[in-house]
Amino acid sequence: MDLTTDRPFDLTDAGRRAWNAIVADPGSTLLCSDFDGVLSPIVRDPDQAWAAEETVTGLARLGTKVGKVAVVTGRLVRKAVELGKLDEQAGLESMSVLGLYGFERWDAATGEFDEPYAPDGVEAAKAELPGVLAGLGLAHARLEDKRLSLGVHTRELEDPHGALATLEIPLRELADRHGLRIEPGKFVFELRAPGVDKGDAVRRLIDEVRPRTVVFAGDDLGDVPAFEAVRSLRDTGDIDGLLICSASTEQNALVELADVIVDGPPGVAVLFDQLAQALEA
Ligand SMILES: [Mg+2]
Repeated sequence: MDLTTDRPFDLTDAGRRAWNAIVADPGSTLLCSDFDGVLSPIVRDPDQAWAAEETVTGLARLGTKVGKVAVVTGRLVRKAVELGKLDEQAGLESMSVLGLYGFERWDAATGEFDEPYAPDGVEAAKAELPGVLAGLGLAHARLEDKRLSLGVHTRELEDPHGALATLEIPLRELADRHGLRIEPGKFVFELRAPGVDKGDAVRRLIDEVRPRTVVFAGDDLGDVPAFEAVRSLRDTGDIDGLLICSASTEQNALVELADVIVDGPPGVAVLFDQLAQALEA
């Protein structure tokens, strides 16, 4: 029986295999999702990026059926839990939230936060950053302190594209001086401590959970290492993998790597709903 007949999505062959594997054995599934742009819409003020109710409800519905649910985000773990109201949602009892690309963690089972201190380079770069921005005439760029990383956002500036171009080299130099990496995103540059990315975070979850099937839903460049980690394990035949791209007009780096493309958080909600229906059938 083809369990995917009612599915309205175009899946790759590998994605269809993973979908069928999830339906056949949901308990052996690890379901991971990014936060911004996947569970929550992208908004001008990142502190107001509340998760869409339908995405979190869908995740919770799946949470009662799959082996484990995880949010893997570049955000502070506390902020992601708060903006998703993830500690209030029934059905997410198996959930872990990996913040700062896995540097921080919260587990629903214990309610405990693990939040280590930030490395020195981040603190030093943070102290210098306002002076660098003022020197470029970009003092109004929004700064986001994520402890392990610093975000410089240009979305709210008059010329967001021009500001990105102006920032790139000076921020790269600042990052080099303090042993940090620079990561571009949607109208943002992030200066980040090295050695932490979503690929490492997902591999650690896979080692812990030993799933047969892994789902990852992402929307931005920071999700590429996670997609690549799942793809490489899938290529060896160790797991099935379903990679979901929550598409936007701002970023299409994941399109080529994904098994299914959906239209932003509303599309993610529909896909979660379809998968939950398939599991409940
Ligand atoms: Mg995102």
